[in-house]
Amino acid sequence: MEFEQDRELSPEEVAREERIKRLILAAVSRCSVCSHSYTLADFAVIGQREHLWMVTVICAECHHQGFVTAVIQGRPTAKNKPAPLSLLELSPAEHARFAIATPVATDDLLDLHLFLDEFDGDFAKLFGVRGD
Ligand SMILES: [Zn+2]
Repeated sequence: MEFEQDRELSPEEVAREERIKRLILAAVSRCSVCSHSYTLADFAVIGQREHLWMVTVICAECHHQGFVTAVIQGRPTAKNKPAPLSLLELSPAEHARFAIATPVATDDLLDLHLFLDEFDGDFAKLFGVRGD
């Protein structure tokens, strides 16, 4: 239930974040605005709660900032099998819906938790994402 921030990450946590970022990079490889290819360094984890990871990505070329919500089913710490991953790239307007700004406030994460408790996993329905 704890979400901690503003502290040093352990080497294990750093490795876990890197693994998450690699998963996301594999799925979101290009800037949606200028098509510049992202690198791992462009991604930063801004929040994590159980299976849900909030990641921001800033394009090195056009500086467009994207937000990605990754729902990792299973344990991202498990070594031998890749974690199934669902991703949603949020527009700034959609991101605002989560009311998560930098720095991430505890209340926001509580809201997120409440949201997740009721969330059925259907991001497309939630955001009215076009099926194109
Ligand atoms: Zn770009």
